[in-house]
Amino acid sequence: MIYADNAATTKTCSAAQQAMLDGMERFWGNPSSLHSPGQQANQALQTAREAVARAIGAQTGEIYFTSGGSEADNQAITSAARIGARRGKKHLITTAIEHHAVLHTMDQLAKEGFEVTLIPVDESGIVKASDVAAAIREDTALVSVMYANNEIGTIQPVAEIGALCRERGVPFHTDAVQAVGHLPIDVKEQNIDMLSLSGHKFHGPRGVGALYVRRGTPLLTLIHGGAQERGFRAGTENLPAILGMAAALDDAVAHMAENDAYVASLRDALIEKLSHIPHAALNGDRTRRLPGNVSFCFEGIEGESLLLLLDGKGVAASSGSACTSGSLDPSHVLLAIGRPHEVAHGSLRLTLDRDNTMDEVDAIAKATAEVVGYLRDMSPVWKALQRGERQYVIQ
Ligand SMILES: *Cc1c(COP(=O)(O)O)cnc(C)c1O
Repeated sequence: MIYADNAATTKTCSAAQQAMLDGMERFWGNPSSLHSPGQQANQALQTAREAVARAIGAQTGEIYFTSGGSEADNQAITSAARIGARRGKKHLITTAIEHHAVLHTMDQLAKEGFEVTLIPVDESGIVKASDVAAAIREDTALVSVMYANNEIGTIQPVAEIGALCRERGVPFHTDAVQAVGHLPIDVKEQNIDMLSLSGHKFHGPRGVGALYVRRGTPLLTLIHGGAQERGFRAGTENLPAILGMAAALDDAVAHMAENDAYVASLRDALIEKLSHIPHAALNGDRTRRLPGNVSFCFEGIEGESLLLLLDGKGVAASSGSACTSGSLDPSHVLLAIGRPHEVAHGSLRLTLDRDNTMDEVDAIAKATAEVVGYLRDMSPVWKALQRGERQYVIQ
């Protein structure tokens, strides 16, 4: 099987697996216990915290471990909203292309009386910093803009947005789940107040992540109980997962430049090959995109059937749309970049990583061309397009 769905999850690397075993065999104590096994576990926990902090240019005391990217997003946003509301600030800003962990948290806050502004993106999927600046009001409690998009791979001007938020005194959160371990990040230089990350997107385990909160940025607790994470996130720490995440991140950061160059070369080759399929269009920006992201729309077909047939040919991919979760709504991200419904349905997301090879890229391109051709031969929409009874949207 060729695995080309690394934006959904990555395979745990051997460094992560080893660290997790250590977490179970050597550091099984409760980090809150005062005896030696507890203190050894606590020491390992702090070393992991240092590694995560180092990877994004933060201080150790600014890292809070969570159960993953979703929890980190929920805590950052809900916390900033409630703190803002205490001072009469009930306006939140985010973008139309966020992950559902952000969008659905915003929806919930809207039900609780907050006003949410969704910044649109241009047709390449980039948020304009000037649009963010224009949306900021006296009563804005938070700006949340994702670092890199999970569907179309676009990288946002985070440093620019961070700088203008800092100037206007508005807290800035970024969902960097797709970026950490893949792109160089420096939360200080980029004026980031809060950042979410998740272990399983950079070859660490799932069910573990972290929230960075800049010193001086207030934070509220969502999970109440013991005093773990300095009182901001109760629950006995999932030490094996935390150690696995830290080891994976160390490994990813140490090899980032070479991995990125290699993965981007695979990505560019795959984009080039898929561009030869007629009436196909790349989604997202050609250059400001994650090294491993390839996202296309193919006119006249259904992404879901494309996926199933690709799976049959040994390629694990994603439609990048909500179809996979049982809903037939096309992806909100593809709609936000202006793809019409019928075209957004024919989407394919292939996300590559350091474990993929150029031979695999060739095989993916070949299988995709075959499957697209096969589905089009059976598609009434495609036939109508070919007969000229309908207009092509993608030329
Ligand atoms: C995967 C993902 C999340 C959710 O992270 P989990 O650890 O799976 O909860 C949030 N945001 C983005 C952009 C993601 O890709």
